[in-house]
Parts: sequence; C-alpha cells; structure tokens
Amino acid sequence: MTKYTAVKGMNDCLPPETRKWQALEQLARDTFASYGYSEIRTPIVEKTALFTRSVGETTSIVEKEMYSFVDQGDEALTLRPEGTAPVVRSYIESGMANQHPNAKLYYMGPMFRRERPQKGRYRQFHQIGVEIFGTAAPAADAEMIAMVWDLLDHQLHLPDLALEINSIGCAGCRPEFLRTLETYLASRAEKLCTDCQRRMKKNPMRVLDCKNEKCRELLQDAPSIHEFWCEGCQSHFTEVQAMLKLLHVPYIVNHRIVRGLDYYMRTAFEVITTRLGAQSAVVAGGRYDGLVRQLGGPDVPGVGFAIGEERLMLLLEDAGTLSVKEEQHVCFALLGEAARKALLPVIRELRHHGVSVQWDYEDRSLKAQMKHADKLGAKWVVIVGDEELANKVVQVKTLATGDQETMSIDKLVTYFSEKCS
Ligand SMILES: [Zn+2]
Ligand SMILES: [Zn+2]
Repeated sequence: MTKYTAVKGMNDCLPPETRKWQALEQLARDTFASYGYSEIRTPIVEKTALFTRSVGETTSIVEKEMYSFVDQGDEALTLRPEGTAPVVRSYIESGMANQHPNAKLYYMGPMFRRERPQKGRYRQFHQIGVEIFGTAAPAADAEMIAMVWDLLDHQLHLPDLALEINSIGCAGCRPEFLRTLETYLASRAEKLCTDCQRRMKKNPMRVLDCKNEKCRELLQDAPSIHEFWCEGCQSHFTEVQAMLKLLHVPYIVNHRIVRGLDYYMRTAFEVITTRLGAQSAVVAGGRYDGLVRQLGGPDVPGVGFAIGEERLMLLLEDAGTLSVKEEQHVCFALLGEAARKALLPVIRELRHHGVSVQWDYEDRSLKAQMKHADKLGAKWVVIVGDEELANKVVQVKTLATGDQETMSIDKLVTYFSEKCS
C-alpha cells in the first residue's frame, strides 16, 4: 500500500497544537480591533502577474520560490508567496481605493514559498499582516509599529526583542545614494559573496543586509542612506521617532535595514530577536507609497508589516508565555437507554451555555466510560444509571480529586455554566 505523506516543508497542525495557534490569532485579532483594523480575506491563488509586477521579477521569491502553475483554462496562477500584493489588488478591485481610500486592514493565513525548509521556515508558512492605506503621515507608521510592539511585548510578553527602524529614502533622494553605493560595491565586487555579487546588479541595497560575516566586514564603511535623505525624508523619520517615544516604544535606529523594491520608501522596520539564530526577524514592515499605483490603482500611500507566525510560535514555545485557556470538558457516563433519553436534552442545554460536553457513543460499561473520560482529559464525569434516574439525580465526579457528589439533574446547567465560565 502507498503511504501518503505531506509535501516537504508543509506541515499539519494537530490538536492540541492548534489551540495555541487559535490563542495567538485571537490575541492578534483583539489587538488589531482595538486599534481600529478590520479583517480582509483574499484568495490563496492569484494571477502570477500580480506577484511578478509587485514583488518584482528579479527577486529570489519570483525567480525561484513561487508555486506557479497553468490551470486547465491556460491561466498562469500562483499560490500567494506574501500577503500585501493580494490585499492591494483587492483594495483597488473592490473600489475601496477610490471610494474609501483610508483603510486599516489585517489578514492572516498561509503563504507559499519553495525555500529550503529549516527550523521556523517552511514552504507553507503563515503570516499575520496589516496594511494602512490612504495616509503618508509619520503618525500612521509610528502607531502601527506601536501596535505590533504592543502585541509582542505587552500581550505576548516575549523577552529579548528589539525594534530596529530606518528610513530608506524616497524616489527623490535614493537614486543618488544608489549610485554612490554601486560605485562603492563595484570596487569590492570580487570579495563579496556570490549572493551579493548577484544582488549588486539587480538590487544593490540588499547587499547591505547580507548576513555573511565577510560581507559585513567589507561593508563597514559603505555609504549609508541617512547621508542622502532629502528634507522630507529627514523630517518624516524624525516625526516617526518622536511619536514612538510618545508611545513608549523602545527602538534602535539601524541604517542597514533595507528593502529591495522600488515602491518601498521611508520607514522600514524589523522586530528582531536573539533567540532564533541568524534569521532573526520576527516582524518586517515598511512604507510602500508607490505600490497601489504600480498595481493600477490611484496614487494612494500605504504602510504595513507582516509577522511570521511559525517563528513567533517558536519564540512563544521558548519563552512559555502564551497562555492557552485550560480546556474544561465534562464527560457524561450515560448507562443505558433511559439515561440517554433523560440526559441528552440536558447535554444540549449545557452546550448552549458554552460548556464543552462529551458522552460515550458506544454505550460501554461504566469502567470503560471512566477510562474514556480520563483519556479525553475530562475534568468531571457525570454518572447516570437507573438508580440515579429514579431519584432524578446524577453523580458528579471530579477526576483530579476523586471527589464525588450527588446532584439534582435540575442543578446541572447552573452548576457547570458557573464552573466553566
Ligand atoms: Zn527623500
Ligand atoms: Zn554577501
């Protein structure tokens, strides 16, 4: 018999693990809602051209990592490798960009890149991301950064995080920086790693964030973007910082944070950690004022970030700070047909009150049902046999202590809805 396995780099998420993901995602939803964001859900499959146009044909994502295919209708499609382009596509297509350009949106879900699988990096991975459209104000950048900091630091209590921010200039001031950088790199080309030699031509800024030690050393005195900022970029960055201070968000200015694509401008930021090895960013974000127009929409500014959920989950496991509400199951041991008939309506009522209830479908012996309840992790077992039925009572047994009490059937709903609320 053929044994089927999951695709390499794509993982199942099983219980009880799923509960952690739910808890994390709920916390993110609640946090974003408190800042006035609404959820957007876009399809997992998009036309390939959307990503070649937005992510860029020369990036390694588009060159090597996309899951692209031609469907039965000869349409070139791709499993989304990131979340921003689909959101921008939808923002334009729905008419939002023209009618209600001010929008604060968040999304969460699977993304796909055919990378080499490694710890915390998978071919199907999950991102939680947000986008703000319709404002170029530095306050938007700052409050968005404060929000993700709030989530990671205040809500999730993650230790050893650092927020690094930069401004990568704009279409006005960046070209001169790039020219200077290119000249600088050209004189050192042979000594750079092969990745950098390739990036140098297509995407010179990306050389600056090469993780290779030798490259880092070579680039120590490379030109820095901040020497080239125009007045607008300078004051925008100053205001972002002032606002972060106002919001009590600690940050470090790191001029090596870059973005490889033309439509990124001004604010670029990352939340990094020392706990994940060299691949240390948990959150990456920035301003992309040119993207909406590049994808055929009006000239509307935007800023956003994405969180890598798998990596965040690794950090949470390590720190042990994610609190998942303890499951409180009640198991009913219904002994015989009469007990089922009398108690199933009560079970339904309990469920309507939000109590998690299970009972044995197999109609087994009391001993077997007790064993089953234990396996399910039940906190209580409610035992109902003929004798109990005759007296309109049940036995409520607390498994952890072994305590058992007799209780009137009428009291069950009140009792457990209080215990489980
Ligand atoms: Zn500028
Ligand atoms: Zn390098």
